[in-house]
Amino acid sequence: MTLRSKLPHVGTTIFTVMSHRARQLGAINLAQGFPDYDVPAKLKDRAAYHVAAGRNQYAPMTGVDELREQIALKLALTYGRMPDPESEITITLGATEAIFSAILALVHPGDEVILFDPSYDSYAPAVLLAGGRPIHIPLDPPHFHIDWQRVREAVTPKLRLIVVNTPHNPTGSMLDPRELDTLADIVRSTRAFVLMDEVYEHMVFDGARHASLLTNTELYERGIAVFSFGKSLHATGWRVGYAVAPPAITTEIRRVHQFNTFSIATPLQYAIADFLKNSPEHHSGLAAFYQRKRDKFLDGLGGSSFSWIPSAGTYFQLLDFSAISDESDTEFVETLLRAGVAAIPVSPFYAQPPRLSVVRLCFAKSESTLEDAAERLCLL
Ligand code: GLN
Repeated sequence: MTLRSKLPHVGTTIFTVMSHRARQLGAINLAQGFPDYDVPAKLKDRAAYHVAAGRNQYAPMTGVDELREQIALKLALTYGRMPDPESEITITLGATEAIFSAILALVHPGDEVILFDPSYDSYAPAVLLAGGRPIHIPLDPPHFHIDWQRVREAVTPKLRLIVVNTPHNPTGSMLDPRELDTLADIVRSTRAFVLMDEVYEHMVFDGARHASLLTNTELYERGIAVFSFGKSLHATGWRVGYAVAPPAITTEIRRVHQFNTFSIATPLQYAIADFLKNSPEHHSGLAAFYQRKRDKFLDGLGGSSFSWIPSAGTYFQLLDFSAISDESDTEFVETLLRAGVAAIPVSPFYAQPPRLSVVRLCFAKSESTLEDAAERLCLL
């Protein structure tokens, strides 16, 4: 019997690999994106409360009512559009499941899916498992903005989906809200859906505004927007996210979701619903919270030989190391590990990587972690 892999070119994710290397070498882990501080105390209290109160059986497949209602209110307040909690919001196992279920639901064998490289590592495997064909359009350094002319040229009758991620992981670039109109114009005459990965929606800096799919009616009608409480509540280990889409698309996503993860941890959903209701100020403070961390980290690197363009959004910063080494980015992360800091190379996020001399570092860390890491980086 021969075992034929469905994903023969996929290894263990670079995040898992680098976190493992960081543990092995005792390096400060600025590689995998997760905070080194805890979730808000009020959120923990509500989780403990709901476990003790016995909310420990299956949640509804679509998510608990209270949470979907709070999400609808939050989206209305943030983006001026209130999705119907019943037919347009689905709670998922992190944003990754939302993306996976949406791609499996919408992409048919032979369909083309546009991905912008460097693209988050889960997109292409999901497309391949659906039998689709990823069409990789590179984002060019140093700004990593979308070249819309290239997108226009890549449109064929087989195009089924365009996946956009803003604020963008791993580069920290952002879509300008006006680019949503360009995107709408490109897909208008096609049968393509738009999947918008918006998990870093609240981490936007220097007064910029996040370009949500929900702010553009034309795109919303053919779109799926994906969000993450892991990011916004510092709770990556809870694995709670959600997908927002018009009813017909939501029906298809749920057809997959119900056989994929079925439903999401009940007490955590109730806890998040309570937190959204009782602490509405939390989200509006996130941009300033993370901008301070970004600035603290970059201040600490003032005496280093790295160069950078300050991250516009996400909790990631790219650092250019070309003045330090002519190694490739995958070699240079090993040099960094020996210097005591774990980072993520960017080339693994490309189908055809250009020669890159940038690495990604996560600044969702306490002040002392950022200071220690910056000190080590200044020695290179
Ligand atoms: N989203 C996280 C990052 O970009 C990684 C999550 C994971 O390990 N799959 O670092």
